[in-house]
Amino acid sequence: MQPKGLCLDRSNNQLILRKGYLLRQARKYLSMSKLIFILITLIFSTNALCQTMVDVNVSKKDEYYILEYVLDEPIKKIYFLKDNSRTRWTTDDKFERNKNEKYDIYAKKDGSFFESITVKIKPFYESKEKDYESFIIFSDGSSLIYTGYIRPEKIYGRKGLVNIDNLSLNILKSKEYVYTLCAYCDGNMFNSKGKHVDKDKYIYLGNIKPIEYDRFIVVKDNDISKDLNKIIIKRISALTNYYERVTGKLLTNKYIIFINQFKLSSSENFSGGVLGNQVQLTFSGEDGDFTDPHLLSLNYLVAHELFHLWNASLFTHKGSSWLHEGSADYMAYTVLLDLGMISKAVYDEKIEESLNICASRLGKYSIEQADENNDNDMIYKCGSFIHYSVDKSYGHKSAIKIWETLFSNREKFGYYNSKDWFKALNTSFNNKQYNDTLFSFVNNLVKSDLIIEQFKTLGWHINETLVTTKNHNIQLAFDMFKHLMTVDCSDFYFNFSADGFFITDLKCSQFKAGLVVSIDGYDHFDKDSADMYNEIRGKCLTSKPIMIGMSDGQELEFICADAPRKLLPYLALAHDKPSGPI
Ligand SMILES: [Zn+2]
Repeated sequence: MQPKGLCLDRSNNQLILRKGYLLRQARKYLSMSKLIFILITLIFSTNALCQTMVDVNVSKKDEYYILEYVLDEPIKKIYFLKDNSRTRWTTDDKFERNKNEKYDIYAKKDGSFFESITVKIKPFYESKEKDYESFIIFSDGSSLIYTGYIRPEKIYGRKGLVNIDNLSLNILKSKEYVYTLCAYCDGNMFNSKGKHVDKDKYIYLGNIKPIEYDRFIVVKDNDISKDLNKIIIKRISALTNYYERVTGKLLTNKYIIFINQFKLSSSENFSGGVLGNQVQLTFSGEDGDFTDPHLLSLNYLVAHELFHLWNASLFTHKGSSWLHEGSADYMAYTVLLDLGMISKAVYDEKIEESLNICASRLGKYSIEQADENNDNDMIYKCGSFIHYSVDKSYGHKSAIKIWETLFSNREKFGYYNSKDWFKALNTSFNNKQYNDTLFSFVNNLVKSDLIIEQFKTLGWHINETLVTTKNHNIQLAFDMFKHLMTVDCSDFYFNFSADGFFITDLKCSQFKAGLVVSIDGYDHFDKDSADMYNEIRGKCLTSKPIMIGMSDGQELEFICADAPRKLLPYLALAHDKPSGPI
């Protein structure tokens, strides 16, 4: 705790301003009795008075965004959450960026104090937009600001860590913009306390008129056709009704959906995210022509993101991500099947995909430990596989019932974790032995040679085969490439496009930034990947060189210092035979 009187080096004037400011904010939200309590707290708490004011001014110049951090006292270092987009931040030459495990840290090269720092940001990667971009761009040039990556996390001043509980985000008013939309933000403040879903927000800046519907508000890119928009609105309404019905919980607030079209991507796909009551969806594709007749990936994205309004916004999840992401995946495909938007064959393919990708991730650590290993495949695929397993044992849609049970009594807490989910499992279904097996599957390491046996214990009938689907081939190529990159680069970012793997921001000894189009002569990542995987694994084991082909014609010779795990056979779902006389 900070000793009293530590802030006396400030002028009285500043103190009064600060108190007045806090009071104005407080008055907006609190009743008189609470206000008196806050006043008393203010008088006795030096911490509250020691807050440093940070104004973050946002403006735009040509295609760049300018962020100006202005402080009311000299500081030494400013910390932001570590993110690869920081490579697109440019500062004055006098500043430098350092990184540690969690943060990107900006400071003066000569170590001197500063009271402001200006950052120029190029809003997107050349080939692909990324989820939770700092600035998400609409085709008319308007933008959605994601505060998570522009909000300072920590600041060091003269006397160590300074209190930045209140940060003010000022968007310089421009005649250009008609709407400044910040749903559920407290004025122009953005909070630096609590979990990221509570403190981070999307703020829309632009000229697109929000359209209000019964349950939600939509800010839609002008380039999205009327027909597609109609489909989306219909889907969103149907999904909202469905989730409310099966979970037994109505959404308490109107939510807001931002839909932008991102044209620079070479592949057609969709991405998105949810923060509080805000849903963000990005559609990629050069011409906005969505030729997929069932719009499967779009339907999946919308269904997945909307379930987060229940399992993340209405009730906060305080636990490992497999539950939160896996359930959203399971719910998405289950609702799409139920509403007739996908066939049973597609649904079964998705189960098979979860099962195989989950299997490929097991053997090194438990599913509970997927977060600390940044293992997204394990988080999404093992997480949904656990839900499919519940259905396998207790009947189709049984896993939905667990969520209904879980939500039914969480109001007084407002949050849940995986322990609560397992409790709800035991309340809903009473095969204790099965439930314990599932609990152990999540919490303990499954040894590599016991994976298939473990799946059988969970009720799955599977055939081990060499036949792999296109998706599985791509997954294997992805696994191998990720392995090679992990071996060579301590910190890396890449994404997969139709043409190959695009590498950015690397600290690697051999891999170079650019588009990788072939790995050891294999240039079609959607077929023969099992052969590629096994051949390259052999080269890793014997330290033989692997050739990496880049799109500019360069060939890199790469020695892989560590072999990836042995490839599991492909596990095909065997459909249960109807029971009858033997
Ligand atoms: Zn999700």
